[in-house]
Amino acid sequence: MKVTVFGIGYVGLVQAAVLAEVGHDVMCIDVDEAKVTNLKKGVIPIFEPGLAPLVKENYEAGRLTFTTDAEAGVAHGEIQFIAVGTPPDEDGSADLKYVTAVARTIAEHMTSYKVIIDKSTVPVGTADKVKSVVMETLARRQANLPFDVVSNPEFLKEGAAVSDCMKPERIIIGTDNNQVLDLMRELYGPFNRNHDRMVIMDIRSAELTKYAANCMLATKISFMNEMSNLAELLGADIEKVRQGIGSDSRIGYHFIYPGCGYGGSCFPKDVQALIRTAEHIGYQPVLLQAVEAVNAKQKHKLFSFIQRHFNGDLKGRTFALWGLSFKPNTDDMRESSSRVLMETLWEAGAKVQAFDPEAMEETQRIYGTRSDLALMGTKEAALQGADALIICTEWQNFRAPDFDLIKATLKHAAIFDGRNLYEPERMVQRGFTYYGIGRGASV
Ligand code: NAD
Repeated sequence: MKVTVFGIGYVGLVQAAVLAEVGHDVMCIDVDEAKVTNLKKGVIPIFEPGLAPLVKENYEAGRLTFTTDAEAGVAHGEIQFIAVGTPPDEDGSADLKYVTAVARTIAEHMTSYKVIIDKSTVPVGTADKVKSVVMETLARRQANLPFDVVSNPEFLKEGAAVSDCMKPERIIIGTDNNQVLDLMRELYGPFNRNHDRMVIMDIRSAELTKYAANCMLATKISFMNEMSNLAELLGADIEKVRQGIGSDSRIGYHFIYPGCGYGGSCFPKDVQALIRTAEHIGYQPVLLQAVEAVNAKQKHKLFSFIQRHFNGDLKGRTFALWGLSFKPNTDDMRESSSRVLMETLWEAGAKVQAFDPEAMEETQRIYGTRSDLALMGTKEAALQGADALIICTEWQNFRAPDFDLIKATLKHAAIFDGRNLYEPERMVQRGFTYYGIGRGASV
Protein backbone atom coordinates (compact mmCIF):
# COMPACT_ATOMS: atom_id res chain seq x y z
CA MET A 1 0.00 0.00 0.00
CA LYS A 2 1.12 3.58 -0.54
CA VAL A 3 1.52 5.30 2.79
CA THR A 4 2.55 8.83 3.76
CA VAL A 5 3.87 9.69 7.21
CA PHE A 6 3.99 13.31 8.39
CA GLY A 7 6.57 13.80 11.16
CA ILE A 8 9.86 11.86 11.23
CA GLY A 9 10.37 11.69 14.99
CA TYR A 10 10.58 8.75 17.40
CA VAL A 11 7.11 7.57 16.34
CA GLY A 12 6.96 8.57 12.67
CA LEU A 13 10.37 7.22 11.70
CA VAL A 14 9.99 3.89 13.49
CA GLN A 15 6.46 3.35 12.20
CA ALA A 16 7.48 4.28 8.65
CA ALA A 17 10.50 1.97 8.70
CA VAL A 18 8.49 -0.94 10.03
CA LEU A 19 5.69 -0.43 7.46
CA ALA A 20 8.33 -0.32 4.70
CA GLU A 21 9.96 -3.47 6.07
CA VAL A 22 6.80 -5.50 5.47
CA GLY A 23 6.55 -4.16 1.92
CA HIS A 24 4.49 -0.97 2.02
CA ASP A 25 5.68 1.99 -0.06
CA VAL A 26 6.25 4.72 2.52
CA MET A 27 7.02 8.40 2.00
CA CYS A 28 8.04 10.45 5.05
CA ILE A 29 7.56 14.21 5.23
CA ASP A 30 9.13 16.55 7.76
CA VAL A 31 9.47 20.33 7.97
CA ASP A 32 12.98 19.90 9.40
CA GLU A 33 15.18 20.14 6.30
CA ALA A 34 18.36 19.11 8.11
CA LYS A 35 16.67 15.93 9.37
CA VAL A 36 15.51 15.00 5.86
CA THR A 37 18.93 15.74 4.31
CA ASN A 38 20.67 13.67 6.96
CA LEU A 39 18.28 10.74 6.58
CA LYS A 40 18.96 10.69 2.85
CA LYS A 41 22.67 10.42 3.72
CA GLY A 42 21.94 7.58 6.12
CA VAL A 43 22.29 9.67 9.30
CA ILE A 44 19.58 8.58 11.75
CA PRO A 45 18.47 11.46 14.01
CA ILE A 46 17.79 9.34 17.11
CA PHE A 47 19.28 6.33 18.87
CA GLU A 48 16.88 3.41 18.88
CA PRO A 49 18.09 -0.22 18.89
CA GLY A 50 17.68 -1.86 15.46
CA LEU A 51 16.44 1.28 13.75
CA ALA A 52 19.52 2.28 11.73
CA PRO A 53 19.82 -0.93 9.65
CA LEU A 54 16.05 -1.04 9.13
CA VAL A 55 15.99 2.51 7.76
CA LYS A 56 19.10 1.94 5.64
CA GLU A 57 17.85 -1.29 4.04
CA ASN A 58 14.41 0.04 3.24
CA TYR A 59 15.74 3.37 1.98
CA GLU A 60 18.15 1.54 -0.34
CA ALA A 61 15.35 -0.77 -1.49
CA GLY A 62 13.30 2.34 -2.41
CA ARG A 63 10.40 1.45 -0.10
CA LEU A 64 11.18 4.32 2.29
CA THR A 65 11.70 7.87 1.05
CA PHE A 66 12.23 11.19 2.81
CA THR A 67 11.25 14.66 1.66
CA THR A 68 10.12 18.08 2.82
CA ASP A 69 7.77 18.29 -0.17
CA ALA A 70 4.36 18.09 1.48
CA GLU A 71 2.49 18.25 -1.83
CA ALA A 72 4.32 15.15 -3.07
CA GLY A 73 3.57 13.50 0.27
CA VAL A 74 -0.15 14.15 -0.03
CA ALA A 75 -0.17 12.86 -3.59
CA HIS A 76 1.71 9.69 -2.60
CA GLY A 77 -0.47 7.80 -0.16
CA GLU A 78 -4.15 7.04 0.16
CA ILE A 79 -3.19 6.60 3.80
CA GLN A 80 -1.82 9.72 5.49
CA PHE A 81 -0.38 9.37 8.97
CA ILE A 82 -0.11 12.37 11.29
CA ALA A 83 2.82 11.57 13.61
CA VAL A 84 3.97 15.06 14.59
CA GLY A 85 4.66 16.24 18.12
CA THR A 86 1.93 17.33 20.54
CA PRO A 87 3.97 19.19 23.19
CA PRO A 88 2.35 20.78 26.21
CA ASP A 89 1.29 24.38 25.66
CA GLU A 90 1.49 27.02 28.40
CA ASP A 91 -1.20 25.53 30.66
CA GLY A 92 -0.15 21.89 30.08
CA SER A 93 -2.87 21.09 27.51
CA ALA A 94 -1.71 19.30 24.37
CA ASP A 95 -0.71 21.87 21.77
CA LEU A 96 -2.37 20.77 18.54
CA LYS A 97 -0.85 23.33 16.21
CA TYR A 98 1.39 20.80 14.42
CA VAL A 99 -1.47 18.31 14.04
CA THR A 100 -3.86 20.89 12.60
CA ALA A 101 -1.10 22.26 10.35
CA VAL A 102 -0.68 18.81 8.81
CA ALA A 103 -4.46 18.40 8.47
CA ARG A 104 -4.58 21.73 6.61
CA THR A 105 -1.67 20.70 4.37
CA ILE A 106 -3.38 17.43 3.44
CA ALA A 107 -6.62 19.25 2.64
CA GLU A 108 -4.83 21.90 0.59
CA HIS A 109 -3.16 19.39 -1.71
CA MET A 110 -5.45 16.35 -1.86
CA THR A 111 -7.11 15.53 -5.18
CA SER A 112 -8.59 12.13 -4.26
CA TYR A 113 -9.91 10.15 -1.26
CA LYS A 114 -7.60 10.08 1.81
CA VAL A 115 -7.65 8.24 5.11
CA ILE A 116 -6.09 10.55 7.69
CA ILE A 117 -4.73 8.64 10.66
CA ASP A 118 -4.05 10.39 13.97
CA LYS A 119 -0.99 8.55 15.25
CA SER A 120 0.09 11.40 17.53
CA THR A 121 -1.21 11.35 21.10
CA VAL A 122 -4.12 13.78 20.98
CA PRO A 123 -6.92 14.72 23.37
CA VAL A 124 -10.42 13.36 22.96
CA GLY A 125 -12.21 15.38 20.28
CA THR A 126 -9.11 15.96 18.12
CA ALA A 127 -10.36 13.73 15.28
CA ASP A 128 -13.42 16.02 15.11
CA LYS A 129 -11.09 19.03 15.04
CA VAL A 130 -9.01 17.48 12.24
CA LYS A 131 -12.24 16.74 10.35
CA SER A 132 -13.37 20.39 10.64
CA VAL A 133 -9.98 21.74 9.55
CA VAL A 134 -10.02 19.50 6.47
CA MET A 135 -13.64 20.37 5.66
CA GLU A 136 -13.02 24.12 6.02
CA THR A 137 -9.93 23.97 3.81
CA LEU A 138 -11.68 21.88 1.17
CA ALA A 139 -14.64 24.29 1.24
CA ARG A 140 -12.27 27.20 0.68
CA ARG A 141 -10.83 25.33 -2.30
CA GLN A 142 -14.39 24.55 -3.43
CA ALA A 143 -13.25 20.93 -3.64
CA ASN A 144 -15.77 18.28 -2.75
CA LEU A 145 -13.47 15.38 -1.90
CA PRO A 146 -14.12 12.40 0.37
CA PHE A 147 -11.91 11.60 3.37
CA ASP A 148 -12.00 9.77 6.70
CA VAL A 149 -10.24 10.41 9.99
CA VAL A 150 -9.10 7.47 12.11
CA SER A 151 -7.65 7.44 15.63
CA ASN A 152 -4.76 4.97 15.84
CA PRO A 153 -2.64 5.90 18.87
CA GLU A 154 0.89 4.56 19.20
CA PHE A 155 2.08 2.47 22.15
CA LEU A 156 5.75 1.94 21.34
CA LYS A 157 8.29 2.23 24.14
CA GLU A 158 11.43 4.20 23.40
CA GLY A 159 14.38 1.84 23.71
CA ALA A 160 12.28 -1.04 22.29
CA ALA A 161 10.40 0.90 19.62
CA VAL A 162 11.28 -1.29 16.63
CA SER A 163 10.27 -4.55 18.28
CA ASP A 164 7.15 -2.94 19.74
CA CYS A 165 6.09 -1.84 16.25
CA MET A 166 7.02 -5.15 14.61
CA LYS A 167 5.12 -7.12 17.28
CA PRO A 168 2.57 -4.75 18.80
CA GLU A 169 0.68 -5.96 21.86
CA ARG A 170 -2.42 -4.24 20.49
CA ILE A 171 -3.39 -2.09 17.53
CA ILE A 172 -6.08 0.34 18.60
CA ILE A 173 -8.32 1.51 15.79
CA GLY A 174 -10.94 4.18 16.43
CA THR A 175 -13.30 4.53 13.50
CA ASP A 176 -16.97 4.75 12.67
CA ASN A 177 -16.59 3.38 9.15
CA ASN A 178 -16.35 -0.27 8.10
CA GLN A 179 -14.63 0.42 4.77
CA VAL A 180 -11.87 2.25 6.61
CA LEU A 181 -11.58 -0.72 8.91
CA ASP A 182 -10.91 -2.99 5.91
CA LEU A 183 -8.08 -0.67 4.84
CA MET A 184 -6.65 -0.73 8.36
CA ARG A 185 -6.77 -4.53 8.37
CA GLU A 186 -4.86 -4.57 5.09
CA LEU A 187 -2.30 -2.03 6.34
CA TYR A 188 -1.65 -3.82 9.64
CA GLY A 189 -2.26 -7.38 8.39
CA PRO A 190 1.46 -8.25 8.39
CA PHE A 191 1.65 -7.41 12.11
CA ASN A 192 -1.53 -9.26 12.94
CA ARG A 193 -0.91 -12.82 11.78
CA ASN A 194 -0.19 -14.68 15.00
CA HIS A 195 -3.43 -13.59 16.65
CA ASP A 196 -5.81 -10.68 16.26
CA ARG A 197 -4.23 -7.72 17.96
CA MET A 198 -6.66 -5.18 16.58
CA VAL A 199 -9.00 -3.61 19.09
CA ILE A 200 -11.71 -1.72 17.26
CA MET A 201 -13.69 1.03 18.93
CA ASP A 202 -15.25 4.43 18.42
CA ILE A 203 -12.90 7.37 17.83
CA ARG A 204 -13.28 9.06 21.23
CA SER A 205 -12.60 5.84 23.13
CA ALA A 206 -9.47 5.26 21.04
CA GLU A 207 -8.23 8.76 21.81
CA LEU A 208 -8.82 8.28 25.52
CA THR A 209 -7.25 4.79 25.52
CA LYS A 210 -3.80 6.26 24.89
CA TYR A 211 -4.05 8.73 27.77
CA ALA A 212 -5.55 6.11 30.08
CA ALA A 213 -2.62 3.76 29.34
CA ASN A 214 0.08 6.35 29.99
CA CYS A 215 -1.68 7.70 33.07
CA MET A 216 -2.05 4.19 34.50
CA LEU A 217 1.69 3.55 34.02
CA ALA A 218 2.60 6.92 35.54
CA THR A 219 0.26 6.16 38.45
CA LYS A 220 2.05 2.87 39.12
CA ILE A 221 5.38 4.68 39.29
CA SER A 222 4.14 7.50 41.51
CA PHE A 223 2.41 4.97 43.76
CA MET A 224 5.68 3.09 44.21
CA ASN A 225 7.56 6.31 44.80
CA GLU A 226 5.06 7.29 47.48
CA MET A 227 5.55 3.85 49.07
CA SER A 228 9.33 4.30 48.82
CA ASN A 229 9.15 7.57 50.75
CA LEU A 230 7.11 5.83 53.44
CA ALA A 231 9.54 2.90 53.49
CA GLU A 232 12.43 5.27 54.00
CA LEU A 233 10.75 6.98 56.94
CA LEU A 234 9.57 3.71 58.47
CA GLY A 235 12.89 1.88 58.19
CA ALA A 236 11.60 -0.60 55.59
CA ASP A 237 13.18 -1.58 52.26
CA ILE A 238 10.98 -0.79 49.25
CA GLU A 239 12.79 -3.39 47.14
CA LYS A 240 11.59 -6.12 49.50
CA VAL A 241 8.12 -4.57 49.46
CA ARG A 242 8.20 -4.47 45.64
CA GLN A 243 8.91 -8.18 45.43
CA GLY A 244 6.31 -8.87 48.06
CA ILE A 245 3.52 -7.09 46.22
CA GLY A 246 4.66 -8.10 42.72
CA SER A 247 4.13 -11.74 43.65
CA ASP A 248 0.39 -11.04 43.80
CA SER A 249 -0.78 -11.93 40.29
CA ARG A 250 -3.34 -9.12 40.42
CA ILE A 251 -0.44 -6.66 40.82
CA GLY A 252 2.47 -8.29 38.96
CA TYR A 253 6.14 -7.34 38.80
CA HIS A 254 5.94 -5.02 35.79
CA PHE A 255 6.37 -1.31 36.14
CA ILE A 256 6.56 -1.12 39.92
CA TYR A 257 10.13 0.05 40.25
CA PRO A 258 10.69 3.01 42.58
CA GLY A 259 13.17 5.63 41.40
CA CYS A 260 14.08 9.29 41.05
CA GLY A 261 10.97 10.13 39.04
CA TYR A 262 9.59 9.38 35.59
CA GLY A 263 10.50 11.52 32.59
CA GLY A 264 10.38 11.23 28.82
CA SER A 265 8.28 12.87 26.20
CA CYS A 266 5.08 11.04 27.10
CA PHE A 267 4.18 10.44 30.76
CA PRO A 268 4.73 13.99 32.07
CA LYS A 269 2.96 15.67 29.18
CA ASP A 270 0.15 13.13 28.86
CA VAL A 271 -0.68 13.18 32.58
CA GLN A 272 -0.75 16.98 32.43
CA ALA A 273 -2.83 17.03 29.27
CA LEU A 274 -5.45 14.67 30.72
CA ILE A 275 -5.59 16.82 33.87
CA ARG A 276 -6.31 19.88 31.69
CA THR A 277 -8.90 17.97 29.65
CA ALA A 278 -10.67 16.96 32.87
CA GLU A 279 -10.54 20.49 34.29
CA HIS A 280 -11.94 21.95 31.07
CA ILE A 281 -15.04 19.81 31.47
CA GLY A 282 -15.37 20.69 35.17
CA TYR A 283 -13.97 17.45 36.65
CA GLN A 284 -11.33 17.49 39.39
CA PRO A 285 -8.87 14.69 38.53
CA VAL A 286 -7.59 14.30 42.10
CA LEU A 287 -5.64 11.09 41.46
CA LEU A 288 -3.88 12.41 38.33
CA GLN A 289 -2.93 15.62 40.13
CA ALA A 290 -1.37 13.55 42.90
CA VAL A 291 0.52 11.40 40.36
CA GLU A 292 2.05 14.53 38.91
CA ALA A 293 2.82 16.12 42.30
CA VAL A 294 4.53 12.97 43.64
CA ASN A 295 6.67 12.78 40.51
CA ALA A 296 7.70 16.44 40.61
CA LYS A 297 8.81 15.97 44.24
CA GLN A 298 10.58 12.70 43.49
CA LYS A 299 12.83 14.38 40.95
CA HIS A 300 14.38 16.31 43.89
CA LYS A 301 14.92 13.20 45.99
CA LEU A 302 18.57 12.62 45.10
CA PHE A 303 19.40 16.28 45.57
CA SER A 304 17.96 16.21 49.10
CA PHE A 305 20.17 13.18 49.93
CA ILE A 306 23.21 14.94 48.48
CA GLN A 307 22.51 18.10 50.42
CA ARG A 308 22.05 16.14 53.61
CA HIS A 309 25.22 14.14 53.11
CA PHE A 310 27.36 17.24 52.53
CA ASN A 311 25.54 19.36 55.16
CA GLY A 312 24.37 21.77 52.45
CA ASP A 313 27.97 22.54 51.47
CA LEU A 314 27.86 21.91 47.70
CA LYS A 315 29.59 25.01 46.34
CA GLY A 316 32.72 24.07 44.39
CA ARG A 317 32.07 20.32 44.66
CA THR A 318 32.15 18.03 41.63
CA PHE A 319 29.73 15.16 41.09
CA ALA A 320 30.11 12.20 38.77
CA LEU A 321 26.77 11.54 37.09
CA TRP A 322 26.05 8.24 35.37
CA GLY A 323 23.00 8.30 33.09
CA LEU A 324 21.45 11.30 31.37
CA SER A 325 18.66 9.86 29.21
CA PHE A 326 15.24 9.49 30.82
CA LYS A 327 15.58 5.70 30.55
CA PRO A 328 18.08 3.20 29.13
CA ASN A 329 18.45 2.42 25.41
CA THR A 330 17.45 5.87 24.23
CA ASP A 331 19.16 9.22 23.79
CA ASP A 332 15.93 11.07 24.66
CA MET A 333 16.48 13.66 27.40
CA ARG A 334 12.97 15.14 27.42
CA GLU A 335 11.83 15.69 31.04
CA SER A 336 14.69 13.47 32.25
CA SER A 337 15.32 13.38 36.02
CA SER A 338 19.00 14.01 35.31
CA ARG A 339 18.15 17.47 34.00
CA VAL A 340 16.35 18.53 37.17
CA LEU A 341 19.22 17.18 39.23
CA MET A 342 21.98 18.84 37.18
CA GLU A 343 20.18 22.17 37.13
CA THR A 344 19.67 22.06 40.91
CA LEU A 345 23.31 21.13 41.49
CA TRP A 346 24.45 24.01 39.27
CA GLU A 347 22.23 26.43 41.19
CA ALA A 348 23.94 25.24 44.37
CA GLY A 349 27.36 26.00 42.84
CA ALA A 350 28.41 22.40 42.11
CA LYS A 351 29.91 20.96 38.93
CA VAL A 352 28.83 17.83 37.06
CA GLN A 353 31.01 15.30 35.22
CA ALA A 354 28.57 13.20 33.27
CA PHE A 355 28.61 10.03 31.23
CA ASP A 356 25.83 8.38 29.25
CA PRO A 357 26.26 5.64 26.63
CA GLU A 358 23.99 7.42 24.11
CA ALA A 359 22.75 10.81 25.32
CA MET A 360 25.98 12.85 25.35
CA GLU A 361 25.32 14.62 22.03
CA GLU A 362 21.79 15.43 23.08
CA THR A 363 23.05 16.84 26.40
CA GLN A 364 25.56 18.97 24.51
CA ARG A 365 22.79 20.18 22.20
CA ILE A 366 20.58 21.15 25.15
CA TYR A 367 23.14 22.76 27.46
CA GLY A 368 25.92 23.81 25.07
CA THR A 369 29.34 24.45 26.53
CA ARG A 370 29.37 25.50 30.18
CA SER A 371 32.09 25.47 32.78
CA ASP A 372 30.04 23.48 35.32
CA LEU A 373 29.33 20.56 32.94
CA ALA A 374 31.95 18.18 31.59
CA LEU A 375 30.88 15.33 29.33
CA MET A 376 33.28 12.44 29.88
CA GLY A 377 34.14 9.63 27.46
CA THR A 378 33.64 6.74 29.89
CA LYS A 379 31.89 6.12 33.19
CA GLU A 380 35.28 5.69 34.85
CA ALA A 381 36.53 9.05 33.51
CA ALA A 382 33.48 10.73 35.04
CA LEU A 383 34.73 9.64 38.50
CA GLN A 384 38.09 11.44 38.23
CA GLY A 385 38.33 14.16 40.86
CA ALA A 386 34.65 13.85 41.78
CA ASP A 387 33.36 14.09 45.35
CA ALA A 388 30.67 11.43 44.92
CA LEU A 389 28.77 9.36 42.34
CA ILE A 390 25.14 9.86 41.32
CA ILE A 391 23.15 7.43 39.15
CA CYS A 392 20.08 8.65 37.26
CA THR A 393 19.53 6.00 34.54
CA GLU A 394 19.65 2.20 34.86
CA TRP A 395 21.85 1.41 31.83
CA GLN A 396 22.93 -2.27 31.87
CA ASN A 397 26.55 -1.21 31.89
CA PHE A 398 26.15 0.47 35.29
CA ARG A 399 24.88 -2.64 37.08
CA ALA A 400 28.16 -4.32 37.97
CA PRO A 401 30.90 -1.68 38.00
CA ASP A 402 34.37 -1.98 39.55
CA PHE A 403 33.51 -0.82 43.07
CA ASP A 404 37.14 -0.81 44.21
CA LEU A 405 37.97 1.60 41.40
CA ILE A 406 34.99 3.80 42.27
CA LYS A 407 36.06 3.91 45.91
CA ALA A 408 39.69 4.62 45.09
CA THR A 409 38.78 7.42 42.65
CA LEU A 410 36.04 9.35 44.47
CA LYS A 411 37.02 11.87 47.15
CA HIS A 412 34.16 10.62 49.34
CA ALA A 413 32.98 7.03 49.08
CA ALA A 414 29.34 8.04 48.60
CA ILE A 415 26.88 6.80 45.97
CA PHE A 416 23.45 8.35 45.36
CA ASP A 417 21.58 5.72 43.40
CA GLY A 418 18.31 6.92 41.84
CA ARG A 419 17.55 3.48 40.34
CA ASN A 420 18.36 1.07 43.19
CA LEU A 421 20.97 -0.82 41.18
CA TYR A 422 23.00 -2.13 44.13
CA GLU A 423 22.42 -3.99 47.37
CA PRO A 424 22.68 -1.58 50.33
CA GLU A 425 24.26 -4.13 52.69
CA ARG A 426 26.98 -5.06 50.21
CA MET A 427 27.68 -1.40 49.56
CA VAL A 428 28.15 -0.74 53.26
CA GLN A 429 30.47 -3.78 53.48
CA ARG A 430 32.46 -2.33 50.58
CA GLY A 431 32.89 0.87 52.58
CA PHE A 432 30.44 3.15 50.81
CA THR A 433 27.79 5.45 52.17
CA TYR A 434 24.98 4.36 49.93
CA TYR A 435 21.71 6.17 49.29
CA GLY A 436 19.02 4.27 47.40
CA ILE A 437 15.36 5.15 46.91
CA GLY A 438 13.14 3.98 49.76
CA ARG A 439 15.72 1.70 51.36
CA GLY A 440 15.06 3.03 54.82
CA ALA A 441 16.93 0.30 56.63
CA SER A 442 20.21 1.51 55.13
CA VAL A 443 19.78 5.26 54.61
P1 NAD B 1 9.22 14.12 17.81
O1 NAD B 1 9.29 15.48 18.38
O2 NAD B 1 10.35 13.17 17.97
O3 NAD B 1 8.92 14.24 16.23
C1 NAD B 1 7.95 15.05 15.66
C2 NAD B 1 8.40 15.41 14.24
O4 NAD B 1 7.34 16.09 13.59
C3 NAD B 1 9.62 16.33 14.19
O5 NAD B 1 10.61 15.78 13.36
C4 NAD B 1 9.06 17.62 13.57
O6 NAD B 1 10.00 18.33 12.80
C5 NAD B 1 7.92 17.08 12.74
N1 NAD B 1 6.91 18.06 12.33
C6 NAD B 1 6.39 19.09 13.03
N2 NAD B 1 5.49 19.75 12.29
C7 NAD B 1 5.43 19.12 11.09
C8 NAD B 1 4.68 19.34 9.91
N3 NAD B 1 3.78 20.33 9.80
N4 NAD B 1 4.87 18.50 8.87
C9 NAD B 1 5.76 17.50 8.96
N5 NAD B 1 6.50 17.25 10.06
C10 NAD B 1 6.33 18.05 11.11
O7 NAD B 1 7.88 13.49 18.39
P2 NAD B 1 7.60 11.96 18.79
O8 NAD B 1 8.28 11.62 20.07
O9 NAD B 1 7.78 11.09 17.60
O10 NAD B 1 6.04 12.04 19.12
C11 NAD B 1 5.07 12.22 18.11
C12 NAD B 1 3.70 11.96 18.70
O11 NAD B 1 3.61 10.59 19.09
C13 NAD B 1 3.40 12.76 19.97
O12 NAD B 1 2.03 13.08 19.99
C14 NAD B 1 3.73 11.81 21.08
O13 NAD B 1 3.01 12.08 22.26
C15 NAD B 1 3.29 10.49 20.49
N6 NAD B 1 3.97 9.31 21.03
C16 NAD B 1 5.31 9.35 21.30
C17 NAD B 1 5.94 8.21 21.80
C18 NAD B 1 7.40 8.24 22.14
O14 NAD B 1 7.86 7.32 22.81
N7 NAD B 1 8.17 9.23 21.72
C19 NAD B 1 5.20 7.02 22.00
C20 NAD B 1 3.86 7.01 21.66
C21 NAD B 1 3.24 8.16 21.18
